Amino acid sequence: MSAVFENVIRKKIETDGAMDIGTFMSLVVAQYYKTRDPFGVDGDFTTAPEISQMFGELIGAWLADMWMQMGSPAPFTVVECGPGRGTLMVDILRATRHVEGFHRGAQVCLIETSPVLQEKQRAVLREFDFIHWREAIEEVPVRGPVLLIGNEFLDALPVRQFMRDHAGWQERVVRVEDGQLCFGFEQAEKSVLSLLPALTVTQKIYEVSPARLDFAKTCCTLLEQAGGAALFIDYGYTKRVAGDTLQAVRGHQYTDVLGFVGMSDLTAHVDFVALEEAVAAQNGQFFGIVSQGEFLQALGIRRRAQVLQQAFPARSSEIDSALNRLISPSEMGDIFKVTGFGYGYNFTPAGF
Ligand code: SAH
Repeated sequence: MSAVFENVIRKKIETDGAMDIGTFMSLVVAQYYKTRDPFGVDGDFTTAPEISQMFGELIGAWLADMWMQMGSPAPFTVVECGPGRGTLMVDILRATRHVEGFHRGAQVCLIETSPVLQEKQRAVLREFDFIHWREAIEEVPVRGPVLLIGNEFLDALPVRQFMRDHAGWQERVVRVEDGQLCFGFEQAEKSVLSLLPALTVTQKIYEVSPARLDFAKTCCTLLEQAGGAALFIDYGYTKRVAGDTLQAVRGHQYTDVLGFVGMSDLTAHVDFVALEEAVAAQNGQFFGIVSQGEFLQALGIRRRAQVLQQAFPARSSEIDSALNRLISPSEMGDIFKVTGFGYGYNFTPAGF
């Protein structure tokens, strides 16, 4: 399987020339998700909603609060980008079931490109008749104000990589040498250089993500028109520094980015500053950037864990360990960040 897809990439490079990292990443990520359900112990990686129902329940409470801050509109639209197995949405909808009017007014749109995962989502969410699927955010049918969420979605959008040397800016590419995929550099096109930070050091890699920027702009435009708010959770950085963050994960281990092409999960850390700038450029209300640990604790995850432990004493240590994985700085608590922004209302978002 891997070799077959690697051949597709190799042929494309042999025909069209060296491939920039962004094109490589988008082709590989699409292939990866198209062909599998990668989550869980037997898969390649585990995400926050797959660790514990507490994660989705608290996001559900956050959404319900934002909805009330908008005056409990009906209809309104909830959009989730990259819903994976659908677990986060299941927990959100369970947690909001008793919020008067929330389900009655809600229309949910899931943005998913993978047919395999769409099928899983349809199965776990079959009891709800107000869910639609689309492949891109531009296709969302908007009814009323919008609440938009994405967990570990932005990291899957492609980055491009650049390095400055004596000959000017070079772009990192994938090429073929002796029949093998390998990394190299080519003279960079001028058009993308405006995205690079103003101060740079030679011989270091800088990442930029035109794809994330386009996505952020589309979110801002959507929210500007409809009113509403967005919440994104992902791993990434809040200071722009040099470095190659492109990573491949397979069977819960880091692996070679050019090995197992299309069979390992390819991601890159999210530049949260770039998101903030995109929101500022479109005059949005930026909520800030906080760590996942801080955010979940501000939303009351410790209390929620206690309540669950009292209700299910046999699961007490399992709940403790899930809590620890989600909020401890040595686990997901620090490296994962939460950010959000809003339009059309004066929000006081919980957790920021
Ligand atoms: N949010 C889920 C899954 C994260 S994995 C969780 O937390 O468990 C990334 C998800 O984004 C997968 O569902 C994948 O199929 C989807 N995805 C990746 N690239 C995408 C793209 N360009 N457009 C839409 N969905 C995409």
